[in-house]
Amino acid sequence: MDPLLTVSGLTMDFGGIRALDHLDLRLHPGEIAALIGPNGAGKTTLFNCLTGIYAPTGGELLLTPPGQAPKRLNGLKPNQITAQGVARTFQNIRLFPNMTVLENVMIGRHCRTHATVFGAIFRPPAVRHEEKAIVGMSLALLERIDLADQADEFAKHLPYGAQRRLEIGRALATEPLLLLLDEPAAGMNPQETLELNELIRSIRDDGTAILLIEHDMKLVMRLSDHIFVLDYGRKIAEGSPEEVRHNPAVIRAYLGEE
Ligand code: ATP
Repeated sequence: MDPLLTVSGLTMDFGGIRALDHLDLRLHPGEIAALIGPNGAGKTTLFNCLTGIYAPTGGELLLTPPGQAPKRLNGLKPNQITAQGVARTFQNIRLFPNMTVLENVMIGRHCRTHATVFGAIFRPPAVRHEEKAIVGMSLALLERIDLADQADEFAKHLPYGAQRRLEIGRALATEPLLLLLDEPAAGMNPQETLELNELIRSIRDDGTAILLIEHDMKLVMRLSDHIFVLDYGRKIAEGSPEEVRHNPAVIRAYLGEE
């Protein structure tokens, strides 16, 4: 099967700092993959290149939806990349705090269909019936992330773990082929982390591939089909959790610190 995501020779320079150095990686449909590595290894920079926030200095990013021709992501704007089927969450939660839980998810949906946030709020009457479908779809998504009972609450009033789930829900509303999760378990208690584990698995089972950055090694080892290890912007290892756990270079660069 063709890889869903192909990253080839990806390089990102910030002035004199090389944050990514000829990085190659492939992610297949139906896979949960993790990116691990020490602070400053380049993990978030990879997400920022993949989502159009940074224009890479070199290399190529290709998304190949099953049965379709590869699409080049380089040079696309963030909203265009969302429309191609790549969604993400952020290390620091970025919800719309003064909007309701339901509205936060609806905005995710509009970002896919209208490609602007304002289109979600100031919509012409002609799209009202479409709006109804979006409300229905967003409520179904809230059921899935266990937030249906809080649909009308302001996002800022949700407990921390629920805000993280809502961010995932908003990303799912764009119906992604590939979901990028940046430290989804950060700040979660053990019970919330367990629920997150189940949620991520269920998203994968529904056909969305996942690439996650995570420092919680228990979660990474339990959840991932494949792990990429970065250090100083380079891939120093990849493989199954078992392979990576016993790789001396990985132990030296990262796991040894734990
Ligand atoms: P962490 O686990 O701490 O989040 P990371 O692996 O995600 O780390 P990045 O945030 O991608 O690492 O940073 C990689 C390198 O690129 C670091 O040296 C960082 O200082 C640098 N860097 C990232 N973004 C910028 C930027 N906008 N301007 C300058 N340097 C940057």
